[in-house]
Order: sequence, then C-alpha cells, then structure tokens
Amino acid sequence: MTVHFDCTQCGKCCHNLRLTLSVDEAIVWAGRGHTVQLLAEALPWVSEPDPADPQALHQRDRSFPAISGSVPFRIAVTLVAYHNGPCPHLLPDMRCGNYAGRPRICRIYPLESRPFTAMSPENRLCPPEAWASELPVLERDGAIADPEAARIVADHRQAVLAGVPVLAKACEALGLSSAAFANEGLAVHMPEPLVLSETLRGARDGGEEPAEARPWTLVTNRRPTLTMLTDAGCDAALIRQGPGYLGSFPDEP
Ligand code: SF4
Ligand code: SF4
Repeated sequence: MTVHFDCTQCGKCCHNLRLTLSVDEAIVWAGRGHTVQLLAEALPWVSEPDPADPQALHQRDRSFPAISGSVPFRIAVTLVAYHNGPCPHLLPDMRCGNYAGRPRICRIYPLESRPFTAMSPENRLCPPEAWASELPVLERDGAIADPEAARIVADHRQAVLAGVPVLAKACEALGLSSAAFANEGLAVHMPEPLVLSETLRGARDGGEEPAEARPWTLVTNRRPTLTMLTDAGCDAALIRQGPGYLGSFPDEP
C-alpha cells in the first residue's frame, strides 16, 4: 500500500499534544520553562524475553527493572512535551517559532515514531486533503519513502532507548515511584520544569544508576485489576482519571 502526503500547514499537530522527547530534547524544552511530563507504565516481568522475539526485547530495552511488593516489573517512562492548547513555540500564522530547534518528533509527524506500530492516517490530525493521491509518497508498504525522514525516525528511536538509564536515575532523584499497570493507562508525573531539566542534566552527566530494582507502586482505576495485583503481592493503589492518570478505561465507582 502506498500512502501519499503533503503538509497543509494546518497547525493541528502543534495543539493539545504530547510530543515524545529524548532526554536531551527534554532538558532544553523544560529548561525554557515549558511543561514536560513523565508518563510511567509498569510491565509485568516474570522472565527474560525470548531472544527471537524482537517486540519483547524492545519492551526490555525501553524499560528499567523495578519491584512492586514482591513482584518484579519493568518500568517504561516516556518524556513528553505537553501543551494544553497551542505549543508555546507556535506563531499566530501557524509557523513554528522554533523551527531550527524543534524536536525530532515535530520533524517526522505524521510518521510513526514507535517501532512495531504502523502509521495510520486515520489516527493522525492531518486533514483529508493532506493525503491526496497526487501528493508525494510518504510510505510504500510500510517503509518510509524519504531516506532523510527515515534517518530521523531511526535517530529518534535510538535516542529514546539511550535515555532509559538516565530516566531510571532521574526518577530516583525526583522520588517518582508510581506507574500505571501496563496496557491500562499511564501515570503522569509533572515536575516543575526547571527542576526536571536540571535533574535530567545531572542524571545524564553523572550519578549512578540504582544498583537494584527499586520499589514502585502500581496504580489502576479498575477495581478488578487492583484486586488481581494485590492478590499477586504487588503494592497497588486505586487512582482516578485526571492530571495524574491517563486511563484507557473509565473510572469505576
Ligand atoms: S516545536 Fe514547532 S513544530 Fe513542534 S509542536 Fe511546537 S510549534 Fe509545532
Ligand atoms: S496536522 Fe498534518 S497537515 Fe497539519 S500541520 Fe501538522 S503535519 Fe501538517
């Protein structure tokens, strides 16, 4: 299948979004006083993955070890620039006021930044006319047509994985220790931007990774999940949808 695309400059992708950042990008973004969130999820981890299973290996690579109660988990933390409304760099005429310094994710949209996930026009904000068949080819059979765009996607993925040990140290330094049960949602942590920037910088440039799996609390907004986790020996707590939790399911009373 061939996907055609050209940007219409509509500016929708610069509003109300969470933009995945590398550690270096987050240091700069938060260092300017802009909001950067840490989205945390806990992956059950009973055994090491099959070396022939690339998706399971990726789950390991994007996470660091933790323990909840007596149960081993891995914690995956994603740094995102968050703006409710327009991006702080968006100009009134919908041009980017940070064009030369914009994060990689802005350079590749609407391409998919996550591995093992197909890009889908239906899940993108771009208007229908941006996908017209006479426009340049964006993807052909799932492969990115432009080598430069493919390189930026690869660099983004590599930078995100390279940041995992830094995030383990930063979470420890910031005292962050709650994560959503995987596939149900994301726990949202939002440190003060300048504190986060300095903490990430310190973690990137020095400091020791936690020597052993650190204790984390699992949060869920579903009572059956809470019961299942506590019965299994996890340290778990109920949470509600809101600034601290992005759930895939509605709150249960
Ligand atoms: S940095 Fe620029 S391209 Fe990225 S969201 Fe902000 S305004 Fe848009
Ligand atoms: S939403 Fe799509 S078409 Fe609109 S500015 Fe962003 S990339 Fe371009």
